[in-house]
Amino acid sequence: MRDPRADFPILGEPVHGRRLVYLDSAATTQKPRQVIEAVADYYRRLNANVHRGAYDLAVRATEAYEDARAAVAAFVGAPDPRGVVFVRGTTEALNLAASSLGRLKVRAGDGIVVTAMEHHSNLIPWQLLAQERAARLEMVELTPQGELDVDGYRRALERRPKIVAFTHVSNVLGTINPVAELARLAHEAGAVVVVDGAQAVPHLAVNVAELGADLYAFSGHKMLGPMGVGVLVGTPELLDAMPPYHGGGEMIRTVQDTTATYAPIPHKFEAGTPNVAGAVGLKAAIAYLGALGMAEVAAHERALTGYARERLAAIEGLRLYGPEERAGVVSFTLADIHPHDLATIVDSEGVAIRAGHHCAQPLMRRLDVPATARASFYVYNTREDVDALAGALEKARALFGYARA
Ligand code: PLP
Repeated sequence: MRDPRADFPILGEPVHGRRLVYLDSAATTQKPRQVIEAVADYYRRLNANVHRGAYDLAVRATEAYEDARAAVAAFVGAPDPRGVVFVRGTTEALNLAASSLGRLKVRAGDGIVVTAMEHHSNLIPWQLLAQERAARLEMVELTPQGELDVDGYRRALERRPKIVAFTHVSNVLGTINPVAELARLAHEAGAVVVVDGAQAVPHLAVNVAELGADLYAFSGHKMLGPMGVGVLVGTPELLDAMPPYHGGGEMIRTVQDTTATYAPIPHKFEAGTPNVAGAVGLKAAIAYLGALGMAEVAAHERALTGYARERLAAIEGLRLYGPEERAGVVSFTLADIHPHDLATIVDSEGVAIRAGHHCAQPLMRRLDVPATARASFYVYNTREDVDALAGALEKARALFGYARA
């Protein structure tokens, strides 16, 4: 993969007088100037509200928005751009899925299956739905290595749930779930499959049609794109059958005093003024990742993660969580230093990592820790970044009195 670092202006911004070592891309990624420029250029030259105006500028803004939809569809292998719904992010996509699918499919006593490695955004919407419908929410456990217990999953499917929702890649453990196999098993059991792809689409070549997910969610800001734009990809047949989520302008066909008919998909799910600049920026991010090559991006992260595991494992008292085979996320604890303290100390060395429960409290309980520290990698990270992290962690050890005599 070519070295893209010169494209990221923020990497030139010093932190505490030091070079920024940004290792929190699982939370949000930095933006290349191609994306920053695309957003600025949209506002400079194209801005108008979409789908409404008869004038030239509105037509061109609409074209830019719909081009972005086509780019997203091509990037994730969605056969039909009508299956690409723009939302604010993964969280909104999964709330849409739960709310709408819930009304379509779930009655009292029905089953919904999730896993113990879900981000809260792929758990709370299903909890809310289960409470509202008096449905049964079941959580599939993990193996001690931090992989999904596929036997447990099969057992959950024997109870014939209506919906199965799981993450493609864990934001804590980096576990990559075998989505195609899990989706096939769920379909055999008659369930609709919802996949949280927030940590997958930025890092792996994803083809939603090959994976067999019925609904697949991800966020633009985790893949070099702007904040506030995300995607729910669905099969057009399912989206057609699903009731609307938000009501308002843009999503209607005709409105009577007490009823309405709705616009065809995807507009049925896009009430109100959309984030057009966000979609345009996401298209630029997709072009950028496409030029780097997703296979190269994945290989770069695999190599870096392997190196990080090796370097961190050599630090006395450091414990790594999650399986060997994984995406570019490394969670760890160091002796009994609280992860927040760890993150603060390494920050003073210019190294940005995350500490906390990572919006995955059920998983933290299973790991038997209140929190972990997490380093996550992306296209702009290097082995020197990993060395800087390892060095900063050694300093933290020394500071807390764990230094070797
Ligand atoms: N799912 C996973 C696995 C995530 O890592 C995240 C973000 O941290 C989300 C969902 C939520 O994404 P967003 O905050 O962009 O809606």
